[in-house]
Amino acid sequence: MTRRTALTGIERPPGFVLHERRKGLFQRNPELVLHCEDIPLSKLAERYGTPLYVYSATAIRQRLSSFQKAFRDVPHTICYSVKANSNLSILRLLSREGCGFDVVSGGELERVLVADRRAAKKIVFSGVGKSRDEMTAALRAGILLFNIESESELWALTECATRLRTTARVALRVNPDVAADTHPYISTGLRKHKFGIPIRDARELYAKASGAKYLKVAGVSVHIGSQIVEIAPFAEAVARVADLARALRADGHRIDYIDTGGGLGISYQEPGLDFDGRTARYARAVCHPLRGMNVHLLLEPGRAIVGPAGVLLTCVVYRKQNDGKRFLVVDAAMNDLIRPSLYGAYHEIVPVVQPANSATKIETVDVVGPVCESGDFFAHDRELSRLEENDLLAILDAGAYGMSLASNYNTRPRPAEILVNGKSVKVIREREKVRDLYSAEL
Ligand SMILES: *Cc1c(COP(=O)(O)O)cnc(C)c1O
Repeated sequence: MTRRTALTGIERPPGFVLHERRKGLFQRNPELVLHCEDIPLSKLAERYGTPLYVYSATAIRQRLSSFQKAFRDVPHTICYSVKANSNLSILRLLSREGCGFDVVSGGELERVLVADRRAAKKIVFSGVGKSRDEMTAALRAGILLFNIESESELWALTECATRLRTTARVALRVNPDVAADTHPYISTGLRKHKFGIPIRDARELYAKASGAKYLKVAGVSVHIGSQIVEIAPFAEAVARVADLARALRADGHRIDYIDTGGGLGISYQEPGLDFDGRTARYARAVCHPLRGMNVHLLLEPGRAIVGPAGVLLTCVVYRKQNDGKRFLVVDAAMNDLIRPSLYGAYHEIVPVVQPANSATKIETVDVVGPVCESGDFFAHDRELSRLEENDLLAILDAGAYGMSLASNYNTRPRPAEILVNGKSVKVIREREKVRDLYSAEL
């Protein structure tokens, strides 16, 4: 088995790479097999079945470390956004690397605490509708910061904190009214969105917050959306936040933290090999408006850390042709990975095994799942080398908002999840069984 040196554009090193395989000593036509680190994906599919989520631990660590390096010159904490992928083993892996967490529900809070109880002091709690129960649980755990999104929520938190006689550190999440070019469902930084407090109204609310006995004003937060590929909107949002923070300090508030949110996009079309360059540019854009301010920076990346570190493995169940249109019906569906259906999102799809030398026949196909919705597709009119029934496909860049958005629609058990680390393979979530899906019903 030799490592292929030329990158083919479908690789996502260090996690997903092609290795050559010769079936027999004398076989002339070697095959290229997509691996997760040292493990052939074909072997994982055989052992654990499909559909199957496979993640690379090395890729996750490397991407986190890229953020850590990019921000090494400023005091900062990376608070990984749990909603991107909330598997306990992934949270544990990140926590071991010194990562903090951004949670948006009591459920996510509990996951982080189960993964690592000591992570509590590195948790920020975001979200537009935190309930009193959720805020009480977070106060009991002693989290770092509440990102508050409305006056009502501020008073609800005061009520909870007063009852527990515990001080809550708060930042207001402001809405900077900055446009970011992404899908409308995941853009959040415009006035018309439900998120945050209009930046113009923030000072007034900070004044009110500072009067509450069990609240401690500690920072300012912003998050303008997800899958933002341009860097400029981040710089613009942080510049507005920096102005506000200076005004708040002049008003006598203590602003120790600036939370710049998440949202750094990844390239779903191209592997984006220079991730370090990208995090460095992002860091410069975020840090520049804050220079000289002596604040502790909080960052909430989710997708950028886990997205390219995971694939969804699936198997061709049927080939099918309707009036000349070709379909590959695969065993994964929109319930397993909803991004194409929900956002029209593009995911690279590649055969797990392909001949290394001989030219493969290319055909144009729709890759679709078995669910009863026309929206159940992974790709329309995609050029793929000809695949037969039972062949394996890998849907790339599925590590973020894949399993965390998966559902049981059509009473389909959710896939198992596998974490690969070098030669080690760990099942980090068992495949669901159909009876798990109805066992709580009467
Ligand atoms: C979703 C979300 C994030 C993470 O966004 P990514 O695009 O995955 O980086 C960070 N912060 C908040 C408040 C979020 O809602």
